[in-house]
Amino acid sequence: MSKKIAIIGAGLSGLAAAHRLAGAGADVRVFEKSKGLSGRAASRSKNDCRYDHGANYFKVSSNEVARLLFQSLPTEGLCRIVGDVDTFDGSGHVTAGDPKQNAGAKWSYREGISTIGKRIVESAGIDVAGDTVITRLVRQHEKWTLKTENGIAGEGFDAVLLTPPAPQTIQLLEACQGIDPGLCSDLVSELGLARYHSQFTIVLNFKGTFSLARDAFALINSDRCHDIAWMSHENRKPGHVSAGESLFVVQMSPVWTARHYESPRENIITAALEKAAPFLGGDLPPLSWSDFQRWRYAHPYTAADPEKMKPASAIGLYFAGDTFVGKGRIPEAIETGFAAAREMEADLAKR
Ligand SMILES: Cc1cc2nc3c(=O)[nH]c(=O)nc-3n(C[C@H](O)[C@H](O)[C@H](O)COP(=O)(O)OP(=O)(O)OC[C@H]3O[C@@H](n4cnc5c(N)ncnc54)[C@H](O)[C@@H]3O)c2cc1C
Repeated sequence: MSKKIAIIGAGLSGLAAAHRLAGAGADVRVFEKSKGLSGRAASRSKNDCRYDHGANYFKVSSNEVARLLFQSLPTEGLCRIVGDVDTFDGSGHVTAGDPKQNAGAKWSYREGISTIGKRIVESAGIDVAGDTVITRLVRQHEKWTLKTENGIAGEGFDAVLLTPPAPQTIQLLEACQGIDPGLCSDLVSELGLARYHSQFTIVLNFKGTFSLARDAFALINSDRCHDIAWMSHENRKPGHVSAGESLFVVQMSPVWTARHYESPRENIITAALEKAAPFLGGDLPPLSWSDFQRWRYAHPYTAADPEKMKPASAIGLYFAGDTFVGKGRIPEAIETGFAAAREMEADLAKR
């Protein structure tokens, strides 16, 4: 397939699509606004520790995703996380988690969960333009041009795949030139059905070895009545935490996050530490260091319908990402990328 395709977003839906399209012979270019790969499947390094501060782990339920992660990509450093995800309620009472949920294998990588995106790019030789915020799409003479604030990022594309969270994709569509206003309005309405929660992630490091209550890998709030939604123990991932240290990832609830979204970082970290301490045992030493991330579009809690986006394929526009899943999940986001790539392959072969 000798077609030229632009993909907006180097998250895992966009990169999964790029992997499949490049394998089919398309000329694929990915445009990513940040410097890194993998989007919200994000990892960071600090003081010799590695941690997953976006998606914390993934499970694999479909064969297509298993083929990508366990066959097509190198599996070196892939690690199964030992330990359960237990639950706590609004009063902080901790109980055993769901045995069915805990039966499935949980995965990350020694180098962090963002390894997935890096491996896709390396193995398929995908061309990624990083640090490139696409602000406008222009269609002229059946070809697409992608623009940034500073000029043209790329041109002459037969098709464009948009993968950012729905609110960011809506902005791109509203700034799009050469699209029928009625079609644009239908697409924007459908995307508007995908709503996202914001969420803070706080990373807490202590000297010494501490565990979560029940010696769990992670604790999840089951009744959505606690200010913390999730806490996990990064020491359970081989290679992540230096010996003699303990590192915990704390994700605040969407309600608490919304209420404090504009608060100073230091206040948020102090509050998270205070709320997390009861789950970490009695005699905690002072915090050694911390890290922080504000995720404006963390998880969708409702989904747009991919079928309703199909009329856009007539002008070479396609869509993927967890916008169409309705919850934040890596494997499902990857599947939306594969589905969009299959649709693009079929359509472009006819042209
Ligand atoms: C705190 C948190 C915890 C999570 N926990 C889990 C978990 O434990 N397990 C799990 O499976 N999932 C989890 N998720 C959800 C999971 O990370 C996402 O569902 C998945 O990574 C979404 O992939 P995506 O490709 O749809 O979107 P993204 O990863 O958001 O990719 C979209 C990309 O588009 C880029 N972009 C946006 N606008 C532009 C533009 N104008 N120009 C260029 N590039 C642009 C963005 O920078 C981004 O890289 C979590 C997410 C968060 C935030």
